[in-house]
Amino acid sequence: MDKKIVGVLGGGQLGRMFVEAANRLNIQVNILDAAKSPAKQISSHEGHIEGSFKDPQSINALAKTCDVITVEIEHVDTYVLEKIAKENSNLAVEPSWQTIRMIQDKYAQKEHFQKNDVATATSMALQDATTEQLQLVADKYGLPYMLKSRTEAYDGKGNYVVKSADDFAGALDALGSRPLYAEKWANFKSELAVMVVKTKDGVLAYPAVETVHEDSICKLVYAPARSVSQKILTAAEDLAKKAVACFSGKGVFGVEMFLLEDDSLLINEIAPRPHNSGHYTIEACPISQYDAHLRAILDLPISQAGLRIKEPAIMLNILGAADPESAVQIAERSMKAVPETSIHLYGKGAARNGRKMGHMTVTAPTMREAEQLMQPLIDITDEVRG
Ligand code: ATP
Ligand code: MG
Ligand code: MG
Repeated sequence: MDKKIVGVLGGGQLGRMFVEAANRLNIQVNILDAAKSPAKQISSHEGHIEGSFKDPQSINALAKTCDVITVEIEHVDTYVLEKIAKENSNLAVEPSWQTIRMIQDKYAQKEHFQKNDVATATSMALQDATTEQLQLVADKYGLPYMLKSRTEAYDGKGNYVVKSADDFAGALDALGSRPLYAEKWANFKSELAVMVVKTKDGVLAYPAVETVHEDSICKLVYAPARSVSQKILTAAEDLAKKAVACFSGKGVFGVEMFLLEDDSLLINEIAPRPHNSGHYTIEACPISQYDAHLRAILDLPISQAGLRIKEPAIMLNILGAADPESAVQIAERSMKAVPETSIHLYGKGAARNGRKMGHMTVTAPTMREAEQLMQPLIDITDEVRG
């Protein structure tokens, strides 16, 4: 089991928690990222590569050191991965470079869903970044609508809500230099997410959870989702599995979706990797999303029973504020207020406004009790962040 070496493009918090899972199985993970990146801080060996996960030379250097290459971020050079996969029969890229390439372009991802009959937000590509094009979208979809960058998007950086023609200039100012598409406004009553595991044998899913976003950044995750019927939860899990099944390769995928007023579901987007909405699995499930990703890409045993929620859980992101010490302050005060909280700090150094610095998870026999444990942590976080 510990004979194979895994290479990861990216050494942020997702890479770090992946390394935690691999360490427990004594599996070596070689990280490609800057020195002292969060994942490297907890992994002491000579196999890491210093460089950028966008740099072809560095990716090639990593490929020479491992048996399987995976990613903790989708914004990587897939042309290098394609070449590596084609030239090395004994080196796997998981999930496939085709999957990463398609998902990193959010509009191509949407077209792929449509082609495969997977319900997703209605969208259209913009020919160019002009007020005429923005007006064309308004005529077609009405207002408001969501203008999105096709590429390099994360934490809402790449989205712009167009509420009226007065917003056209601001939208072009913010996103005009990027490849754009527009989405019809989804009037959702809540957002759900499902972590799906794609193995050599098929697809498995964790239970559907509820995600709460603030300023387009995930703030809270309730696992399982609150006040949603079992029928809808099952429909969400089925839709997520159907969506992931139409991509090639192995590993975990984070599936974000909208639950609309009429109880129908639309896929928002998919991440081809562990995901913020799946952090809760570390404390709440027998097998975490990181364990699952490792097992899936190495063809190690994994079962649906390992993906169940043992008891209700709530995860709260520790987002930075202007004060560089703000994340540590949140963690220290939270630990004091609710000592049974599981606290994760990512080792990213100084906090910045809106930066994901860590997260906290509480579990309890009932969701009500978990909510009671979580409330002081939300209050502390909101107070420190102002
Ligand atoms: P992530 O960090 O998850 O990759 P992202 O930058 O790719 O985020 P999206 O997932 O596209 O951004 O959107 C972020 C949030 O904005 C969504 O979770 C949702 O709250 C809101 N949103 C996105 N698209 C729409 C839409 N079509 N209608 C209404 N709200 C939307
Ligand atoms: Mg995204
Ligand atoms: Mg998203």
